[in-house]
Amino acid sequence: MSNIWSEALEGLEPRLGAQTFDLWLRPIALDKVEADCLHLTAPNRFMKEWFENHYLGVVLDEIRARTERSFEVEIAIAEGAEPTPVSTETAPKAAASIDAVDPKHVASAEAASLTAPVRPAAFLVEPTPTNKKPLRPHEPPKLSSRYHFKSFIQGSSNDLAASAAWAVAQAPGERFNPLFIYGGVGLGKTHLLHAIGHHLQEHRPELRIALQSAERFMNEFITAVRSNSFDEFRRRYREDCDVLLIDDIQFISGRDRTMDEFFHVFNALYEAGKQIVVTADRVPGDMQGMEERLTSRLNWGLVADVKAPDLETRIAILQQKAEEDNVEISGEVLLHIAGLIRSNVRELEGALVRVSTFAALKGVPITVDFATSVLGDQATTEQAAPLTIETIQKVVAAHFTIRIADLKGPRRHKGIARPRMIAMYLARELTPSSFPEIGLRFGGKDHSTVINACKRIRALQGLEPELAANVQSLRRQLSSELPD
Ligand code: ADP
Ligand code: MG
Repeated sequence: MSNIWSEALEGLEPRLGAQTFDLWLRPIALDKVEADCLHLTAPNRFMKEWFENHYLGVVLDEIRARTERSFEVEIAIAEGAEPTPVSTETAPKAAASIDAVDPKHVASAEAASLTAPVRPAAFLVEPTPTNKKPLRPHEPPKLSSRYHFKSFIQGSSNDLAASAAWAVAQAPGERFNPLFIYGGVGLGKTHLLHAIGHHLQEHRPELRIALQSAERFMNEFITAVRSNSFDEFRRRYREDCDVLLIDDIQFISGRDRTMDEFFHVFNALYEAGKQIVVTADRVPGDMQGMEERLTSRLNWGLVADVKAPDLETRIAILQQKAEEDNVEISGEVLLHIAGLIRSNVRELEGALVRVSTFAALKGVPITVDFATSVLGDQATTEQAAPLTIETIQKVVAAHFTIRIADLKGPRRHKGIARPRMIAMYLARELTPSSFPEIGLRFGGKDHSTVINACKRIRALQGLEPELAANVQSLRRQLSSELPD
């Protein structure tokens, strides 16, 4: 009778693929068949639930097709399911995700498990000692000591995000849930996330806060699955958590199992009225590979952006930083540095540190000339960064000698449609703008038009050398274009 099981699984392997099969089906063992009930054993609760939710149906269908009988199923969890260590050669590295399991690893792990006593999913076990450390459910979040609200300069570029973060810190779970903060690198997303954490820790010490980068969340999840400590992971994020702060969620795009787990965490917390704050480098709908059901949830609350700061904000940030570091620097020099570094606050701060350190080392006063000599190179690369869609339209229109109004208009003539698609493509490649935003700037076109344009131009570059040369030349031109 136990043949039913192995035969059904064999039949399914080609359909599901070796990787899925090895990860999720092979670890499930048939213990016995009693009347119309199959008694199965899973190595841990997570594997049991995953199997039940994703594969049990197909397995039962396969068995029914083969035997013309319907079976019930009982799945037990293996008693004392101790992870079996495997050699480091056969196991994926600590950070390697189960979402991206290299088939080689699976294959070699499988080979190892054939020569050793059969232990399901042995290759899921993490061999490094650090991963054996259990998660502590109430571990206080690791907050950067520098990222408080009081050191965050609010300006028009980050007004909404900063105000919403402040509101969330005042009354978690009540307004703006989830709060989704997005924007380019070095614009204060992590700062705001930690500021919420600090404020709550100080004023609402009873709340249990989990602050984590999405990458850490994924690694903890994988470790939990591998080391049979999934219950602990679940408790930590779904039950013993009042405020969940996740940084850089785009990291889990395309990592199916982590997205699935995050989805469940999100639902559990949201339904319990717990506050969720998530940051990312783009809007939810723009994260390729992110599940639709997840992006729609991330849109449920408030979506707020952080943009590159305006001149006034940049000066205020520099002033604050100079005070913090006890650097004596004139307003004129601050204005000069704020004029040079425009698109990234981290680099702005770095510029001040470089100038003041060099001046101290050389024992010279900080003048505008001195700052220019120290920052010369950095400023040139920096200036090319914040390219706007308007600049791209201007350059593309001039290149093809057509009018900007035509680029934005509805005409479908090839001599216009092609440059328009190229301009859309360059806008997507060279600016942080989303598809809908680009559509809007091209006379209010739908985002699907922009997506198609980008796809076409990407494909055509491999087919039409002339078009590829045009795109190349435009790219070169645009990289030397200075924003005003
Ligand atoms: P992101 O997470 O968006 O990449 P960070 O939050 O790490 O950016 O910010 C980069 C650096 O710039 C940090 O040192 C942060 O303190 C600083 N910073 C960014 N925006 C502001 C701001 N508005 N006021 C003060 N400091 C800022
Ligand atoms: Mg960050």
